[in-house]
Amino acid sequence: MKIDSEFALNDSKHINHGKIFVISAPSGAGKTTLVGLLRERFPLLAESVSCTTRAPRGKEIDGVDYFFLSKEEFFAKREAGLFAEWAEVHGNFYGTPLDFLQHQLDCGKDIICDIDYQGAINIKKAFPQEAVLILVLPPSMEELESRLRLRATDNPEVIKTRLHNAKNEMRQYPHFDFVVVNNDLKVAEAQMTAIISAHTDSSIFHNLETIKKLTE
Ligand code: 5GP
Repeated sequence: MKIDSEFALNDSKHINHGKIFVISAPSGAGKTTLVGLLRERFPLLAESVSCTTRAPRGKEIDGVDYFFLSKEEFFAKREAGLFAEWAEVHGNFYGTPLDFLQHQLDCGKDIICDIDYQGAINIKKAFPQEAVLILVLPPSMEELESRLRLRATDNPEVIKTRLHNAKNEMRQYPHFDFVVVNNDLKVAEAQMTAIISAHTDSSIFHNLETIKKLTE
């Protein structure tokens, strides 16, 4: 079949309209480290900054790590339909600003979101064509427990709750497009890089000239 560039350029299948990469994981699976590595590897990915009602931790900066809101402010935004999704996680409210996602997608940009599994499922409902859901899992419950203990940020009671919640979160895997088991950080990073590259680099779109010469 002859492909001319005009055809391919106008064929929506071959044009990158922007994807939303949603990364979820139970606490202790290594999501924060992996998302940090992916941000370095894909500097053009737009980062969605969520709104939250939880208090800032450590060096977190308002507008960079989160938009820190009071419950009243959060609920007002929620009622006004300003969130693409929202969820209550560990007793605090979190929401993904809709206008940011919409604007980035309209510009053809890809976005990375670090949100919980409830948010992931709802983003997929709101953006079925654009959302790519990736669930990061630990290699075993034992390893998850040992990582949570090593972090030494939580007391044993909190660790117990987190392990209990992790089971429920991991049982949501059928909603996800991809599952990455973080046994070896380098391997997990390579797998996530492959998933993102496969969805952002349209091999046909980038090779139009060559394809045209080969097929004319
Ligand atoms: P943390 O308070 O430790 O930063 O985040 C707690 C959990 O909330 C993490 O699993 C994180 O991915 C999730 N989270 C952060 N932002 C959002 C959001 O906008 N929506 C949802 N549903 N979850 C979020």
